[in-house]
Amino acid sequence: MAFKIAVVGIGKIARDQHIPCILKNKKFKLAAGVSRHGTIEDVPCFRSIAELQKSKLAIDAVALCTPPSVRLAMARECLDAGWHVLIEKPPTPTVGELLSMEAYARKKRRVLYATWHSRYNASVDEAKKRLKGKTVNFLRVNWKEDVNKWHPGQQWIWEPGGFGVLDPGINAISIVTKILPEPIFVEEATIEVPSNSATPIAAEIRFKRGDGLSADLSASMDWRQTSGETWEIEVGTTDGLKLHLSKGGSVLAVNGKTVREAELHEYEDIYAKFARLLKAKKSDVDASPLQLISDCFMLGKPVVVKAFEWSAR
Ligand code: NAP
Repeated sequence: MAFKIAVVGIGKIARDQHIPCILKNKKFKLAAGVSRHGTIEDVPCFRSIAELQKSKLAIDAVALCTPPSVRLAMARECLDAGWHVLIEKPPTPTVGELLSMEAYARKKRRVLYATWHSRYNASVDEAKKRLKGKTVNFLRVNWKEDVNKWHPGQQWIWEPGGFGVLDPGINAISIVTKILPEPIFVEEATIEVPSNSATPIAAEIRFKRGDGLSADLSASMDWRQTSGETWEIEVGTTDGLKLHLSKGGSVLAVNGKTVREAELHEYEDIYAKFARLLKAKKSDVDASPLQLISDCFMLGKPVVVKAFEWSAR
């Protein structure tokens, strides 16, 4: 029998990915939508989670596609209703909220799946395999795009808990934390915050290894690039291996030679995995990308830069 799922927060990612992927996955039935403004054609829609619960519609799970700052209270409301919960990335504005959400799901004996969509591709898996057992001494993340192209009119990303450029940047960090054989830590960071915003438009981060071994590890993120996207990760190891992930992690070159160009079906894979987790009654929560990004805010030197004009939707 298909899992009856409701999508909460009918914005860009719900429309681009969640709704189409649920509709084509036979293990799910799109049972409801929850949105203050949006609707889904031919699907019952409600203004709030409370209204959905009051309707007595049978629901097994929800996909929370709202911004991170409102997810903890929403997740708890859904878990209280007895529903399993899938959440978009970044999972919550702070590590504390994620740990609390995870504990609450455990207490309620419900599945919590904190998704990291950029991790789902064959090139990322291959990179992880090739780095197994190696000592990484070089990392260069270059994650640059045009905020007005990718987040038009999204006010929440400029507000506390919205992450700013670290919202797409956490995608790169979710790949890094998946493929590296050992954890890395933030050493220092500079975060550029426009004078009319609470969140950064650019960040330069230096990382360090945990064992004190000399290593050149850094990330550069910028939302002011208007000439296309740069979504690249380079990794080097002490025995001379050089990996280069480009196009958001989907193309892998090893020592200068392309070895894999992955076809992207990130959200199809996410829903296939959610079905497996629901069947096994198992949660999947990895806080490591959020921890590193939080540490950038913790250790980063904020620099106020000129006000930024962002476009309306
Ligand atoms: P969005 O277009 O702004 O959509 C978010 C939806 O959440 C809105 O349509 C809104 O729906 C609801 N919402 C907004 N603020 C809310 C609030 N304070 N309380 C309750 N509901 C609220 O944003 P998005 O791009 O879809 O991003 C949502 C999440 O997905 C983010 O965490 C983002 O990082 C992640 N994501 C986005 C993309 C992308 O390409 N945009 C890709 C991957 C992941 P209603 O007003 O109708 O209730």
